[in-house]
Amino acid sequence: CGIVGAVSVASAGTPPAEVVLDGLARLEYRGYDSAGIAAVTDGGLAVRKKAGKLQNLLDELERYPLPPSRAAIGHTRWATHGGPTDENAHPHLSGDGNLAVVHNGIIENYAALRRELEADGALFLSQTDTEVVAHLLGRAYAGDLTAAMLAVTARLEGAFTLVAVHADHPGTIVAARRNSPLVIGLGEGANYLGSDVAAFVSQTKRALEVDQDQVVTLTGDSVTVVDAAGQEVEPRAFTVEWDA
Ligand code: GLU
Repeated sequence: CGIVGAVSVASAGTPPAEVVLDGLARLEYRGYDSAGIAAVTDGGLAVRKKAGKLQNLLDELERYPLPPSRAAIGHTRWATHGGPTDENAHPHLSGDGNLAVVHNGIIENYAALRRELEADGALFLSQTDTEVVAHLLGRAYAGDLTAAMLAVTARLEGAFTLVAVHADHPGTIVAARRNSPLVIGLGEGANYLGSDVAAFVSQTKRALEVDQDQVVTLTGDSVTVVDAAGQEVEPRAFTVEWDA
């Protein structure tokens, strides 16, 4: 339903996890049934997710605070496949636990993909369509998260905004979209992603459009957008008009 991503160069500006939580609060107006966050820390991924109001996630973070991180992704879920439970909340993890992904939309061919993955030994922890993407990305990953995203999105049918992080890349976020919105926000020593500009409007008004079937690779000081064939494209810049 709502997606936020934030990545910064070492210790620049507002901590990414704080930007993500602020963005999730700004996306609450869309309606949702669960919320979650993943941060890439020196010790690997840290994930917190809870069914119910964003306050439930904030309470969980009070009990189990996130270690510092340079990259964080967050999600408010509007369940389409699988009820609103903690397990079905996003982010979802790859089999080895090193990759986390959040997803807006519906993966139409998830049932066939899940059967294929289960036949190959994958263990599923949720009833969501999204979790197939986590397993596929984990299996496609061979050191290059962007290449994994390109390979996996080629196998997906339906509508998706996907945003992923990997424990091997503490300063990188990768995202993709098809039939579902995704925008990039440009900061100072930090960059952002959102399902709409509300996700990052507290940080920047400078934004880039992401077109259909493009894949975005974001660090604190770089933005690369490629098309489905992996060819680099020049995204259109715009200024967020916002009176808040
Ligand atoms: N289809 C996914 C799910 O049910 C994502 C729903 C959403 O867009 O929030 O978990």
